[in-house]
Amino acid sequence: MWCEIVHTRTGVERDTVIEITDGVITGVRPDTPAPPPGAAVRRGLTLPGFANAHSHAFHRVLRGRTQAGSGTFWTWREMMYSAAAKLDPDTYLALARAVYAEMALAGITSVGEFHYLHHGPGGTPYDDPNAMGNALIEAARQAGIRITLLDTCYLTGGVGQKPAGTQLRFDDRDADGWAARASELKPAEHARIGAAVHSVRAVPADQIPVVAAWAAERGAPLHAHVSEQPAENHASLEAYGKTPVEVFDAADALDPRFIAVHATHLTDHDIARLGSTGAGVCLCPTTERDLADGIGPAGELSRAGVPLSLGTDSQAVIDMFEEARAVELDERLRTGSRGHFTTARLLVHGTVLGQAALGWEGIGRIEAGMAADLVTVGLDSVRLAGTVPRLASESAVFAATASDITHVMVAGRTIVEDGQHTLVENVAGELAASIGALVE
Ligand SMILES: [Zn+2]
Repeated sequence: MWCEIVHTRTGVERDTVIEITDGVITGVRPDTPAPPPGAAVRRGLTLPGFANAHSHAFHRVLRGRTQAGSGTFWTWREMMYSAAAKLDPDTYLALARAVYAEMALAGITSVGEFHYLHHGPGGTPYDDPNAMGNALIEAARQAGIRITLLDTCYLTGGVGQKPAGTQLRFDDRDADGWAARASELKPAEHARIGAAVHSVRAVPADQIPVVAAWAAERGAPLHAHVSEQPAENHASLEAYGKTPVEVFDAADALDPRFIAVHATHLTDHDIARLGSTGAGVCLCPTTERDLADGIGPAGELSRAGVPLSLGTDSQAVIDMFEEARAVELDERLRTGSRGHFTTARLLVHGTVLGQAALGWEGIGRIEAGMAADLVTVGLDSVRLAGTVPRLASESAVFAATASDITHVMVAGRTIVEDGQHTLVENVAGELAASIGALVE
C-alpha cells in the first residue's frame, strides 16, 4: 500500500509504502514518491486503527431520544432499561451488526463490548446461556471488526438492593453463577473474552474477588464502571467505608489488566493507587458530558502514569476523533489552560493503549511487526481542506469527523473502501430497521 501521509510514532511521513504480509505490517518505507506497480493507493492521512474500549451496543437505540430535556443519569437509565427489555438474540444480532458496521465506518477496528444483557425476560436463561454474548461476537464478525466481549457480572440493582424489572435479565445470582456461564464463552480469531464487574452498585464487594480471580487465571482484561457519579461514591463509602477504587483494590483487582471506566470522581488516593498498580482508565467524554457526569481528572491520571483509553459507551455519537480531542479540550475547560496532551498522545489513547486495554497486543501503531489495522482520513472535505501535510494529524484530531474516513483495514483486510462498508451494504438502512423494531 502506498500512502500520501502516514502518522507514525516519530511524526508524519510522506509518500510511504506500507508492506503487508498475512495481515501484519512487514515494512514501512517513507519517501517513495511514486506508488509501486500494483500497490493500493491511499490519498490523505493514514492512522492506526482505533480501539473503542467501552461500548454498550444496544444504547445506540437511545441516540436522539434521551439527549433533550432535564433528565439525569438516573432517568436516562430508565429509558435504557426499556430498550433493553425488548431485545432477544436475533434482534440483538441485527442491531449490533449495524452498530459495529457504523463503528467500522468510524475507523474502529476493535470494540470492547461491556455486556450485561445475558438472560431472557424475567431472568430466564436462554437454551444457550450465552446466546446474547454469542450474538455480539457474531455481529462483530459480520461487521469485520475485532471484539473483546467483556462479560459483565451484575447482581444487585444498587448497593444492597435486589435486582428488579429489566435488571433480572442481567443477574447471574452470584459471582460463581456468573463465572460458570462466562467460562463457556469461546474466543475466536476476531474475538477475545474478558471480564467486567458492572460497578460497586451492581456487585457486592465480597463477590468481586471471584470475578477478579477468574480474569487473573486467564490473563484476561477486567473492566468496571468506577466513580461515574458522586451518588455511586456516596453509596460505596456508606456501605464499605471505601471509595469504589478502594473496594477494587481490597479485592486484589487492580493491576495492568484492570480498566476503570469513567473514573470521573476520584480522590487523590484513588489516582495514586491506579498509578502505582498499573491499572488503566477508559474515558468516555461524549457520554460523560451527555449524562452530566462531570469531567474526569485526565491530566492528574496521566501524570500518575495511568494509561488512558477511550470509549463511545452510550453511543451518543460514534466518532473517535470527538472522544480523542475531548480529553484535551475538556481539560482546558476544567483547568483554564491549554496544551495538556499532544496530538500524538491523544491518538495513542485512541489506538495502541485502547487495543492493549482490550487485550490486543501488537495492534495500534504503523510499524513493522504490528497488525495491519489502518484508517485513512480524506483531507479534501470542507472540514479539512487546506490542511498542511506536516500538521495533518493535528487537523484530523481537532477537526475531522468520522465521516472523513475513507478506508479502513483490519488485519490486512479492507472493510471500508471509499467510505462504503464492504461487508454490510446499507449500514444506515440496517440501523434504521433494527432500531425501528425496538422503539417508536
Ligand atoms: Zn458503560
